[in-house]
Amino acid sequence: MRKETYLGVDVAPLTYKQVVKEITQRIEEGEQSTVIAVNPEKIMKSQSDETLRGLINGSTFQIPDGVGVLLASKLKGGHITSRVTGVEMMGYLLHLAEQKGLRVFFYGAKEEVVSKAIDNMKIEHPNLIVAGYENGYEQDNEKIVKHIQDTEADMLFVALGSPKQELWIREHKDELPVKVFQGVGGSFDVWAGNVERAPEFFRNNGLEWLYRLAKEPKRFKRQLALPKFLYAIMKSK
Ligand code: UDP
Repeated sequence: MRKETYLGVDVAPLTYKQVVKEITQRIEEGEQSTVIAVNPEKIMKSQSDETLRGLINGSTFQIPDGVGVLLASKLKGGHITSRVTGVEMMGYLLHLAEQKGLRVFFYGAKEEVVSKAIDNMKIEHPNLIVAGYENGYEQDNEKIVKHIQDTEADMLFVALGSPKQELWIREHKDELPVKVFQGVGGSFDVWAGNVERAPEFFRNNGLEWLYRLAKEPKRFKRQLALPKFLYAIMKSK
């Protein structure tokens, strides 16, 4: 599979449709796939956090979430042409599940959030088969694993925040029948209607970060990763 590497971290130069196509092929071949969203913040953290870097590079698809990764690819003559966000990737995978009759399990977020998110997904994806769900505060891991096994889920979305969700996926994927795993952070909150995404204008012009900064000024520190990342990319060979 084609990859681009930025400061030692892999990113897949694929669009939503290409990811879906490759995942479909892998399902047919009986292979498991893991999807992780990569952004400048995670790449910068990976510089000193071997575990995180291993988690990213060990995933099947590292989707380029964030305009910073796009800019890095432009600066380095790479082939990443558009953002692939975690929450939209999830929408594409739900559509795939609906078309193929795959059974989807949801694990994470508060009980009322995950159940409301599922209600809203069913409105947008009326043929979705929901295998089951668990909230992200259930402590009995064995029970969660057994629930997913018993429901014979094919696709699993884990929303525990990063990297907790990716660590959970890595630890349990071999004992699960699931073929497609995605760690989706706060996406259930978005589906539940608790968190607004930036308006289209901001999203289409690479300015989602600006919108989020204006709404939540305390994000400033996290967003410093972007200029630091671009500076490091320009210095790198
Ligand atoms: N969460 C959870 N269990 C935990 C910690 C967090 O289910 O032990 C959920 C939390 O309710 C929220 C999501 O994980 O729905 C984290 O979203 P956040 O936006 O913080 O994640 P990010 O996208 O920043 O990784």
